[in-house]
Amino acid sequence: MTGFVRDFAEGDRSQADLLGGKGANLAEMCRLGLPVPPGFTITTEACRAYLRDGVVPDGLDTEVGEHLARLERQMDRRLGDPSDPLLVSVRSGSKFSMPGMMETVLDVGLNDDSVNGLARHGGERFALDSYRRLIQMFGSTVLGIEPKVFATALAELKDDRSSVDDAGLAVDDLRELVSTYQGLVLQHAGRGFPQDPREQLDLAVRAVFDSWHTPRATFYRQREHISEDLGTAVNVQAMVFGNRGASSGSGVAFTRDPATGASGVYGDYLQHAQGEDVVSGIRNTVPLSDLIELDKPSYEELLRNMAALERHYRDMCDIEFTIEAGKLWMLQTRVGKRTPEAAFRIAHAMAGEGLVDLDEAVLRVTGAQLARLMFPRFDDAVAKQSLTVGIGASPGAAVGRVVLDAGTAVTWSERGEDVILVREETNPDDLQGMVAACGTLTSRGGKTSHAAVVARGMGRPCVCGAEALLVDLVQRQVQVRGGPVLHEGDVVSLDGTTGEVYAGAVPVVDSAVVRYFDGKAVEDPVVDAVAALLTHADGVRRMEVHANADTPEDAARARRFGAQGIGLCRTEHMFLGPRRVLVERLVLATNDSERDAALAEMLPLQREDFTRILAEMDGLPVTIRLIDPPLHEFLPDLTQLSVEVALDDEQGRGNPTRHRLLAAVRAAHEQNPMLGLRGVRLGLVIPGLVAMQARAILEAAADRLAVGGDPRPEIMVPLVSTVGELARMRQVLAGVAEEVESRRGFAVPHRVGTMIEVPRAALTADQIASEADFFSFGTNDLTQMTWGFSRDDVEAAFFPAYLAEGVLAVSPFESLDTEGVGSLITTAVAKGRQVRPNLALGVCGEHGGDPDSIQFFESAGLDYVSCSPFRLPVARLEAARAVLRGDARR
Ligand code: ADP
Ligand code: MG
Ligand code: MG
Repeated sequence: MTGFVRDFAEGDRSQADLLGGKGANLAEMCRLGLPVPPGFTITTEACRAYLRDGVVPDGLDTEVGEHLARLERQMDRRLGDPSDPLLVSVRSGSKFSMPGMMETVLDVGLNDDSVNGLARHGGERFALDSYRRLIQMFGSTVLGIEPKVFATALAELKDDRSSVDDAGLAVDDLRELVSTYQGLVLQHAGRGFPQDPREQLDLAVRAVFDSWHTPRATFYRQREHISEDLGTAVNVQAMVFGNRGASSGSGVAFTRDPATGASGVYGDYLQHAQGEDVVSGIRNTVPLSDLIELDKPSYEELLRNMAALERHYRDMCDIEFTIEAGKLWMLQTRVGKRTPEAAFRIAHAMAGEGLVDLDEAVLRVTGAQLARLMFPRFDDAVAKQSLTVGIGASPGAAVGRVVLDAGTAVTWSERGEDVILVREETNPDDLQGMVAACGTLTSRGGKTSHAAVVARGMGRPCVCGAEALLVDLVQRQVQVRGGPVLHEGDVVSLDGTTGEVYAGAVPVVDSAVVRYFDGKAVEDPVVDAVAALLTHADGVRRMEVHANADTPEDAARARRFGAQGIGLCRTEHMFLGPRRVLVERLVLATNDSERDAALAEMLPLQREDFTRILAEMDGLPVTIRLIDPPLHEFLPDLTQLSVEVALDDEQGRGNPTRHRLLAAVRAAHEQNPMLGLRGVRLGLVIPGLVAMQARAILEAAADRLAVGGDPRPEIMVPLVSTVGELARMRQVLAGVAEEVESRRGFAVPHRVGTMIEVPRAALTADQIASEADFFSFGTNDLTQMTWGFSRDDVEAAFFPAYLAEGVLAVSPFESLDTEGVGSLITTAVAKGRQVRPNLALGVCGEHGGDPDSIQFFESAGLDYVSCSPFRLPVARLEAARAVLRGDARR
């Protein structure tokens, strides 16, 4: 079928591209035989042509004329007929719902003559009120007159008549208002209000087309990632009138509660009103259930229609309807928006009712929604005082006392205080403080700053880049620019979802879903839904889900949250805190025996760490990464140490050990530590260190075996660029294994593999696979090195501008860059498996818990994703959805 116009009776719901969502669904309701006021849709194609050429496409006017004539025959009335006029609404509606963003003009077809015809059938007051509404709406949306021009005139008239609402105006007042409005149109638009109904219609259609490009619509599309190129359809529909007295009215309704997901209809109704009045909130609506008293037949018919729609769409629908003099009309429907709670409950309930199968139910909920359900949040019902707003970097709600450094955070939390760590920005030294705090607040950095990444990993709330905060470590206080001073110890509340910071303690509601995962008894329909859908997802997914967990506590939680192993156990925290002195001693060692002594002191501490983690993860693989970060992260800061040593010398307190430490720190100093001595390189330069770690791991495993445990250690070598590094490292590890096994007298099964996080490693994965039992893609470093972006500096540098300008749509650190980094991954997968078909493949790093990235890992054929314990349920769900979506495409 060609042409730019379709009758409602011609289309169906599959045509949202062409007819817009509203038009397609109006057509679908017609097909279902529901009472829809007749009309036709001008296609998005016509809109695109108009927006491209600046004029409506050839033939459109004729086509509109033909469809209008048909509509007039159907309604047995003519547009703008002076005796009994047909009036139409001209409604926008694009493929994706953009509520309230574009224009709609009602009552088109009224003029100085037809207003009398309308009065004859509906009363004078109703007719005049409709007319003045048309002039107002048309004047502002079509002729571009400031809405307040009309609002002022109306207010003045009401003032004059000392009446507060429109109902207080007499028929003569309305007549006067119509003529005042017409004068205003002439004055502000330089032309009179068009009396020709067809001209009104044509101008309104163009205005709806034009409303695609209003700033608010453009902004909305940017935020919702809707393409600029789609354009809007225009629906021209016979008007029905809800403002025709007490037996008329308008309402909105949902087939289930969109907030909670509870079954049972839900909605609002307003007697003697048009649809616009219901949403605008000028008058108070009544609950939909009251309609049963007002108009039982219409109520029952509406409920039947809603049930039919839900059965037909197999989903929760939202509906706009109008009752004109006891006759029900359906004006709009669509699959309704809902909260995350409602999404889970509705999908679960519909599976139970047999409306959808469980696969479909799993496809109807998202990992992002599940994540939202897992954060504690502030009680919405409580008034709160906002101090400032930063970037919501890690969702959730946190309340606690302000502390200004990690040490204080630890001490205060140990004595039972809830604390919020407030820093200009954080670095690895703050980690213990962040662990101790229930939330972190920084004045610098954004969503990929250290604080944000770490907090998200922990599932702990974080607000970053609250620039109005001046952290003063000398006075131990935080000045809020243009606001109060917070002293250390004052209570604040952080909303990691919105970035809002509040003074005082805002009441927090715990996540029932998390309590359930933690093994507590919870009675909550949302939890039931989450549990049921996740169980099904676990049966569907192909990829395993592992956790990034560094401590026995994390490991235990990971298991409760469904981990099938640990995909990344970082060992660096094992060198921080009080153990730091051991690293210093190692670096200061002048001979082998001093070095061995330092290592010997570290060994039992590490062994203990590993024993406990292997015990928590008994029977499941635990991938332990050998020491990775550059040594300087464990040593004192060069500048600070230089100053301290100089001061000591000046005051005659100089001390040779401190001098040696300074010399060592200076020698180890690098311009680009991220591109320097770290990962496997460190292991090769200080071999004793890796051997000690390997011994700790294997002895821990041996200890577990000795007591009947089932340890499954996997030793992972970081930052390999060439197979030679891995081969040497394997030799060291093999030596240690041989020694441990011969001393214990039994074998200690383990595997050795590598991270793929340097592009060269991905490109030479065939060579590397000859020395590796497994690969784990370290997508953080791989992204950093593929793009040449420092992931620690993205906030400071050009990155925000890149995102703002649209050079990048999303940060490749948040969502995997499938084209670039992704192609390195698929290359490495293919080359690796070619050499070693049973090579185990996984991913660790932030992307392991990101829904879009998980979709990619599924298609790349990885065996598992690894993510923070808190993200595990999200990963379980998304891994299943990736399979189901893949099936659907096949
Ligand atoms: P939006 O997309 O902003 O909801 P709509 O096109 O749905 O805009 O129209 C706005 C209001 O006008 C709605 O409340 C609707 O009920 C009302 N309306 C639209 N068309 C008609 C009609 N043919 N008869 C009566 N009311 C209508
Ligand atoms: Mg609407
Ligand atoms: Mg790395």
